[in-house]
Amino acid sequence: MGEAEQQAGWGFETRAVHTGQAPDPASGAVVTPITLSTTFAQDGVGNHQGYEYSRSGNPTRSALETCVASLELARHGFAFASGLAAEDNVLRLLSQGDRILLGNDAYGGTFRLISKVWAPLGFPWSAVDLTDLDALVASWPDDTRLVWLETPTNPLLTCIDIETVAAIAHERGALVVVDNTFATPFLQQPLALGADIVVHSATKYLGGHSDVVGGFLALNDDDLADRIRFTQNAAGAVPAPFDCYLVLRGVKTLGVRMERHCSNARAVVDMLVGHPAVDRVFYPQLPDHPGHRAAAKQMRDFGGMVSFTLRGGLDAALTVVRHTQIFTLAESLGAVESLIEHPGQMTHASAAGSPLQVPDALVRLSVGIESATDLVADLQQALDHI
Ligand code: PLP
Repeated sequence: MGEAEQQAGWGFETRAVHTGQAPDPASGAVVTPITLSTTFAQDGVGNHQGYEYSRSGNPTRSALETCVASLELARHGFAFASGLAAEDNVLRLLSQGDRILLGNDAYGGTFRLISKVWAPLGFPWSAVDLTDLDALVASWPDDTRLVWLETPTNPLLTCIDIETVAAIAHERGALVVVDNTFATPFLQQPLALGADIVVHSATKYLGGHSDVVGGFLALNDDDLADRIRFTQNAAGAVPAPFDCYLVLRGVKTLGVRMERHCSNARAVVDMLVGHPAVDRVFYPQLPDHPGHRAAAKQMRDFGGMVSFTLRGGLDAALTVVRHTQIFTLAESLGAVESLIEHPGQMTHASAAGSPLQVPDALVRLSVGIESATDLVADLQQALDHI
């Protein structure tokens, strides 16, 4: 039995700190060493200690892959140079003519990768409403081989019932990919709900400190894992050892950070819901939020991302994002510091004019781990500028 299997019974936070991270046998170092060597000595041809060349495998990357796979309840984990590199390796599982169904609220870069890189190569795709499962079944294209969903979605935080979508897709011969970037394995474990592959932008909550770009795939199927292992090496979009170390360091505190992100988000939502300048608040805990039932069923808590629209439309949205002092106006999310952005002109600009276009009046918050009182006060004073 391998180390990861032995530790499978440990709690999430214990696995986050220890799995794949036993003290280094050579030195006793408690922190996983950053192995920079690109090549590894062999006693005789092919006789080595598990590593030959760092694109194919690297000890620091192995530690990260073992740890995050364990957090996602996966047999296999693969780290990539970015979330999009991880996504690109999933799409390489398809054959020309295989259709991708993409949830109609998704990260703009995922939309761009599917519609602008893969579609022209002969991979048809359709945007679908994954909250309307009757319509999904009724209009299911026969050539579908992959259903790609985010839950909660970026940026409207819609939640999709993973178990039900997986059952529908599997009956029709399609794989289900869940982008678990927003929820993280601390809040939601899609493989246990029937998903085939979990995707992460490790740049976000896994890394957690806005200092590393990375991606991750977690899965259970041995054949699919062999194919991903092949393209990870053959296409070569692997992360540097130092980047693996940074993500691994972030993962150690994922549980405690997520608890704080969730409680701070709740404080912010409570204020926004009652504010006269705010039109609609998008947060999965709100009972009238689309997918609240799915979120309550499959998530441990509701996450650190909050979106809202302003009654004053685009101008009001741009005014608010310009006037916060603690929330930094910046793309990305999932780190200790709070961020604010205008999805229509920033993260989701590439979706303009498509079925994935987002409202002009929308503001997205990544609620960090600062003092909740300060965050609420900061947003209140920014709203006062409208
Ligand atoms: N998935 C989601 C939900 C994202 O928000 C992002 C980036 O913002 C990505 C994937 C892409 O990840 P990366 O920027 O690490 O390539």
